[in-house]
Amino acid sequence: MITKRGVEVVLATQNRGKLREIRSVLKGFGFHIRGLSDFKNLPEVEEDGDSFIENGLKKARFYSQLLGKLTIADDSGLVVDALGGAPGIYSARYAGPKASDQENRKKLLKALDGIPISKRGASFKCAIAMVSPDGWELVTEGSCRGRIGFKEIGRNGFGYDPIFIIPRYGKTMAQLSLEEKNRVSHRGKALRKLRRLLKNFGNTLAF
Ligand code: IMP
Repeated sequence: MITKRGVEVVLATQNRGKLREIRSVLKGFGFHIRGLSDFKNLPEVEEDGDSFIENGLKKARFYSQLLGKLTIADDSGLVVDALGGAPGIYSARYAGPKASDQENRKKLLKALDGIPISKRGASFKCAIAMVSPDGWELVTEGSCRGRIGFKEIGRNGFGYDPIFIIPRYGKTMAQLSLEEKNRVSHRGKALRKLRRLLKNFGNTLAF
């Protein structure tokens, strides 16, 4: 739906960190972005897919059908080489179903105890799905390479940011400003790809 404030889009996430970053990258694009908190008594979606793309699409399809609105969902996580790709799609619940970000970070640092910096490579991965109620779907992906540090540093961002080092900057993700993080992050890259797709195909899509 197009209102005076732009094309109405729902961001299907309760994660405030993700919301902040997605709003920032999509600023100025002509979207009027609503969060799930703008709607009352919404059910949650079970994230039971086998990949970031499957889970992202599942969330976007679910809320776009339920609310009858254009919907964007993000599914993302941390893939750690030394752990065979864990926690991956289970990143949010690594230390248990209701685990806090801090509990997840603590468990990860413990799992990597004794592993030298050269073997602490990891990637953040993100899938962004955009789904319209009448059935068109766009999916983009982004990733960001780094290393898992030995302790928490920095106060910005969310999730695993304080222990994820970007070698190019010699800083953790949590030491970067919102703009710096969006420039290098998995989410920033996936969202810029979405912006490019919308610019190229926007005329053929019915909002
Ligand atoms: P989701 O809500 O199922 O996509 O879970 C994503 C989880 O992955 C979050 O709870 C974080 O723990 C982690 N994660 C994803 N993106 C980031 C990021 O940009 N920084 C830090 N942690 C992230």
